[in-house]
Amino acid sequence: LPLSNSRDFEMRQPHVLVLPFPAQGHIKPMLCLAELLCQAGLRVAFLSNHHSHRRLSNLQDLSTRFPTLHFQSISDGLPEEHPRNLVHFMHLVHSIKNVTKPLLRDLLISLSHKSDIPPVSCIIADGILSFAIDVAEELQIKVIIFGTISSCCLWSYLCVPKLIQQGELQFSDSDMSQEVGSVPEMQGSLRLHDRPYSFGLKQLEDPNFQFFVSETQAMTRAFAVIFNTFDSLEAPVLSQMIPLLPKVYTIGPLHALWKARLGDLSQHSSSNGHLREADHNCITWLDSQPPRSVVYVSFGSYVVLTREELLEFWHGLVNSCKRFLWVLRPDMIAGEKDHDQMIARELDLGSKEKGLLVDWAPQEEVLAHPSVGGFLTHCGWNSTLESMVAGVPMLCWPKLPDQLVNSRCVSEVWKIGLDLKDTCDRSTVEKMVRALMEDRRVEVMRSVDGMSKLARERVSHGGSSSRNLEMLIQELETQ
Ligand code: UDP
Repeated sequence: LPLSNSRDFEMRQPHVLVLPFPAQGHIKPMLCLAELLCQAGLRVAFLSNHHSHRRLSNLQDLSTRFPTLHFQSISDGLPEEHPRNLVHFMHLVHSIKNVTKPLLRDLLISLSHKSDIPPVSCIIADGILSFAIDVAEELQIKVIIFGTISSCCLWSYLCVPKLIQQGELQFSDSDMSQEVGSVPEMQGSLRLHDRPYSFGLKQLEDPNFQFFVSETQAMTRAFAVIFNTFDSLEAPVLSQMIPLLPKVYTIGPLHALWKARLGDLSQHSSSNGHLREADHNCITWLDSQPPRSVVYVSFGSYVVLTREELLEFWHGLVNSCKRFLWVLRPDMIAGEKDHDQMIARELDLGSKEKGLLVDWAPQEEVLAHPSVGGFLTHCGWNSTLESMVAGVPMLCWPKLPDQLVNSRCVSEVWKIGLDLKDTCDRSTVEKMVRALMEDRRVEVMRSVDGMSKLARERVSHGGSSSRNLEMLIQELETQ
C-alpha cells in the first residue's frame, strides 16, 4: 500500500482501550482478551496502573508478538510502596476513582487529537471500575463491562435491591442455613451462608459490600457486558440475567480460548499477565512424581491466612500422607514476613520430601501436569476455571464473598470438588484431602471429566464461547 493509504487504514482501525482493576485475577483474563482482539487485527491500549505495569512480565515479547498491542500505565494515586492488598482494598478503590478517573478522561481526549493514532472507539472496563461508564458517556465512546467474577456471584449482587425490598436480608445468625427465595435459579442450591451477603444486616452497612452491589448494578448502563464463563456452566443464572442486562457475551473460560487460538504459536504454554515471577523448578519436581499423586495448594494472589490456619493446613496435608506442591506467597501470612523459617521449624524432616513450597507457581502448567491429582484452592474465579478445564478436582476453602458462591457451585451444583467451608482444622483437612484423592475420587472425577470436556468444546472452533468472541469482534469493528 502507498504510505498515505496505509496511514488511512491505520487511522480507521478500531481502537479498544482495555482497563483492568490492578489485581492479578483481573489483569490476567483481561490481557488474554486484549491479545485475542489484537490477533483479530484490532488495535488495543492495555491500561494498567504504574504499579502493575512495572510488574507485568514479558511486555517486550508481547509487544513484538502483537504489534497492535500497546501497554500504557496511569496513576492510581497511591505511592509505589503502598501494599495495595486486601486490607487496603477500599482505599485503593477510592484512590483509583478520585485520581484515575480524571486522568482517563484526559488520556482519551488527548488520544482523540492525535494525527497518527485512531481515537479510542470502545472502552472495555473492569466490572469494578464503573467510573469508566461515566467517562465514556461524557465523551460518547462505547463502553463494555468485563465481569471478572462468576455470573452466579454477579447475579447474587444484582438481586440485592430486590432482597432488601422483600425483607429477605433481615435475618439473624441462627438463620444462616436457610435458603434465599428471591434469587431465582439459585434456590435450593445455595444458602445464606454461601452468599456474598452472608453477614446479614451488618453486611448491608459494609462499604465493601455496598461497593460490589453498586458496581454490579452499574453494568446495566453499559453498551454490553462480557462474562468469563460459558453458556452451559451457568445457564440458569444467565437466563435470568440476560433480560436485565444489555448485550451479553459469554466468552469463557478465557484462558482456554486463548490457548485454543494462540497457545500453539506461543513459546509459553499458558496465558500471560503474571505480576510475579513463577518458579518453574516445581515442574521439574512434578516430573519426578507418580501420576495424579500431588495435591496442588494455592490460595491465589490476594487471600491472607493467619499463622494458625497455615499450620492447620500444613499438619493436615502432612498427616494425609499425600504429596503436595504449595504456593506460599511471601505476603500470605497476616502480619508475618518470615513464614519460610517458621514453616521450616514446623517441618517434620521425615515428611519434607513429600512436599515442595514455592513463592509463585506457573499455575496453568501445574494444573495441566499429569502428576497433579487435586487442587486445594480458595476458589477464586480464575483458579476455578483453570482447574475445571484441566480436569483437576478441587478441595475448596473460600474466604471472600465471591469465593463462597463459587465453592458452593463447585461442590453442590457442578459436583467437581469438595468444600471445606470455613473449617481448616488439621483433622478435617487430612480427612478431606484423603476423600478427594481416594475415597470419593471416582464419583467426583466423573463430573470433572465431563465438565472439562464441555469447557474445551465451548472454546474450540464453532463452540459457543468461540462464536461469541467472533460476534464481539464484529461489534468492536462496527464504529
Ligand atoms: N496464579 C499463578 N500462580 C500462583 C497462584 C496463582 O499463576 O502461584 C494465578 C492463577 O493461575 C489465576 C490467578 O493467579 O489465574 C489468581 O486468580 P483467582 O481469580 O483464582 O484468585 P485471586 O488471586 O483473584 O484471589
